[in-house]
Amino acid sequence: MRILYVEDNPANLSLVRRIARMGNHEVISYIDGEQALAHFNTDKPDLILMDIQIAGDLNGLDVVKQLRADGHTLPIIAVTAYAMVGDKERCLEAGCDDYIAKPIPIPLLVELFKKYSDALKQSEPEQQATAKT
Ligand code: MN
Repeated sequence: MRILYVEDNPANLSLVRRIARMGNHEVISYIDGEQALAHFNTDKPDLILMDIQIAGDLNGLDVVKQLRADGHTLPIIAVTAYAMVGDKERCLEAGCDDYIAKPIPIPLLVELFKKYSDALKQSEPEQQATAKT
């Protein structure tokens, strides 16, 4: 699947790229939300990993809210360094489906990639039929 990762920390990006490669997943990345939104319709990701504190004027939750307001239903996983009580709830309320706290636990990332990749495979015939209409 094609993963869009909005992240301003190169170390996290390189970790996620490595894990994604193990599952034969492609990673597209931007350091800010403006670029992610601007390229969204041509990138056509299957899954988004969204850092919350990113470069630019928008934070990750602003980007998630914008994508949901535009009607995009793809799965979004928040990746955040926030360690405050209530952060997970704030991410889910903004429209995220899952939440990963940094430092990124590799087994959890592997598990989430598998979960969403399996779900995508199951829904593919339906998506292709929809795309033709
Ligand atoms: Mn960040």
